[in-house]
Amino acid sequence: MLVDLHCHTRPRSACSALEPIELAYLAAERGLDGICLTEHDRSWAHDELEALRAAAPIAVFHAVELTTDLGHILAFGLPSTAFSASAREVAAVAEQCGALLYLAHPARDGLLRVTRETVEYFVSVESVNGSDSRLQNIAAAGLAKGFRLPGIGGSDAHTADEVGRAATRFAGRLTSDADLLEALRSGAYEALLLG
Ligand SMILES: [Zn+2]
Ligand SMILES: [Zn+2]
Repeated sequence: MLVDLHCHTRPRSACSALEPIELAYLAAERGLDGICLTEHDRSWAHDELEALRAAAPIAVFHAVELTTDLGHILAFGLPSTAFSASAREVAAVAEQCGALLYLAHPARDGLLRVTRETVEYFVSVESVNGSDSRLQNIAAAGLAKGFRLPGIGGSDAHTADEVGRAATRFAGRLTSDADLLEALRSGAYEALLLG
């Protein structure tokens, strides 16, 4: 199952030009089996998410991309009450509740902000980002080798053109956010650039 683990839609991500349902249909057309909404620093309301899921032609998962002092973090399974710009605070809650934190596009800024201690907050990095350059993704894939879980892949789509450029392949069929979290925790997945 191919799932794009990094997507932005409007109006929740102000920088995105994509309507949620438009994203879902474009992703389906381009061969994806699922998308994971990762808006900047905010979550979707439960009823709105369920309405999108009912209308979408593929599976829709939900996570978040947090803007923090250590860079952008893709957080899976994190309650919205724990959203914070302090990576330390986010990591403390993630540890308690079993959420998984990945450092997003770790080579984009050219400078890793993590230290020997704070690198422990992350289970891995986003090793394939569809909006990054080839060299940045090579660097990110190299970084992922140092973590306990493999790197994840996502398009980081903000426009129609960017949809479907990258994804994460899972062996099984995932139907819920809980399934996605479990599959990530198992480490049985692979980040892919789809072109
Ligand atoms: Zn980002
Ligand atoms: Zn993003």
